[in-house]
Amino acid sequence: MAGPTLVWLRDDLRLADNPALTAAVSRGHGVVVVFVLDDESPGIRPIGSASRWWLHHSLAALDASLDGMLVLRRGPAERVIPALVDELGATAVYWNRRYSAAREIDARIKTSLRDAGVEVESFQANLLFEPWTVQTGDGGPYKVFTPFWRACLERGGVREPLGVPDLGAVLGAPGSESLDGWGLLPTTPDWAGGLRDTWTPGERGAHDRLDAFMGGALSRYHRRDEPAVEATSRLSPHLRFGEVSPFQVWDRVHGVSANSAKFLSEVGWREFSWHILFHWPRLATENFRPAFDAFGWGHPGDEVLAAWRHGRTGIPLVDAGMRELWHTGYMHNRVRMVVASFLIKNLLVDWRVGEEWFWDTLVDADEANNPASWQWVAGSGADAAPYFRVFNPELQAKKFDPDAEYIRRWVPEYGTPDYPDPIVDLARSRQEALDAYEAVKAAA
Ligand code: FAD
Repeated sequence: MAGPTLVWLRDDLRLADNPALTAAVSRGHGVVVVFVLDDESPGIRPIGSASRWWLHHSLAALDASLDGMLVLRRGPAERVIPALVDELGATAVYWNRRYSAAREIDARIKTSLRDAGVEVESFQANLLFEPWTVQTGDGGPYKVFTPFWRACLERGGVREPLGVPDLGAVLGAPGSESLDGWGLLPTTPDWAGGLRDTWTPGERGAHDRLDAFMGGALSRYHRRDEPAVEATSRLSPHLRFGEVSPFQVWDRVHGVSANSAKFLSEVGWREFSWHILFHWPRLATENFRPAFDAFGWGHPGDEVLAAWRHGRTGIPLVDAGMRELWHTGYMHNRVRMVVASFLIKNLLVDWRVGEEWFWDTLVDADEANNPASWQWVAGSGADAAPYFRVFNPELQAKKFDPDAEYIRRWVPEYGTPDYPDPIVDLARSRQEALDAYEAVKAAA
């Protein structure tokens, strides 16, 4: 006799446009929805502190939408999922695909459950174009964004989003763990006040954000480089946790504004980063361009790193960005490029140090976008900015924050005697970075 279907959610914490959930409901026989907190399995990158805060609230919101039926389990998925299948007498397991090294876990679970006679299906939900479906003329992966995105657009066929299925089929299960017991929230100290003031994690919050974007910031998207202007969607954490799908975003934005294509090409960068991560799973730890392995990174010491992390470098735009990040778990894209360039090039710090700090502090910390973007700034990545492009934070501020509105928002003591002197000479350190790069080029 057919038993219930287990739906295993991961980075897809939503009920609408969730193909695995919809298929499970259509199958009949009842549905049990589980989220597994797995910090231990090889291939899993344990999430950072700000993401843990987000995850807690996103799961709480999802559980409320499921009338308390969401099942929570902690441990290695390869142990937890088969055990739950046995407990429930489930005869099918459905999930939406993931594209990091964790997909190897999924492949092993799929094989062993199928061997045991359980039906297993996976679905496309979190990327518009799955990495293996977009290939160069030689049948390989793309390494350059523009032809990649052109190929995606030529492929087309972005499906329409699905609605919320009938949730009457969703059953609970005994033995769900307590979300509070997982300790995802900071307590001593509770540093999450700025996050609470800024964000509403969960599917409802994601759609409110998308509605607000459609009604306002999309029309200002051509000013997206100005950090004081509300001109971008701020959907990144919602996309990261799958509270809204790229199909839903595409459906709302495509063809409605003069800014639509530009905005969707940024969503395309997300697709490109995942394409790269899929083909180069060690993107967060290894230079995409091996020539950079020989780079002579400096070791400026704990004080200098602390000044960068906490926004006390004496470079106003850098400090504003780092304080925005610390306070809200988010930083404007243009400023991300500036603070990253400052760390890598003016302080000569290995990009991995910055990537890890962002991984811990960003609410949108994304396994593909974060390392791909850090490597882009470093010059070591796919389709990266050339190394000799060193952002000058003073010129960037003049150009994109001419009235210092963003700077003053985050650095109120800017322009007063309380504001520190720069920790580094911008012109001299820029030259030192260029000299270090010449040495790599010569060795390559
Ligand atoms: P919008 O401009 O409204 O863009 C819409 C969506 O497109 C974003 O939500 C995001 O999903 C995607 N997107 C936009 N720009 C990029 C980009 N350059 N690369 C990949 N996807 C993009 N983005 C993350 O989502 N997670 C990260 O961990 C992350 N780390 C970054 C680190 C550095 C050093 C830099 C320079 C950029 C990083 N980005 C990251 C990319 C970008 O800064 C953010 O996606 C963007 O600022 C999010 O704001 P938004 O949602 O308002 O963007």
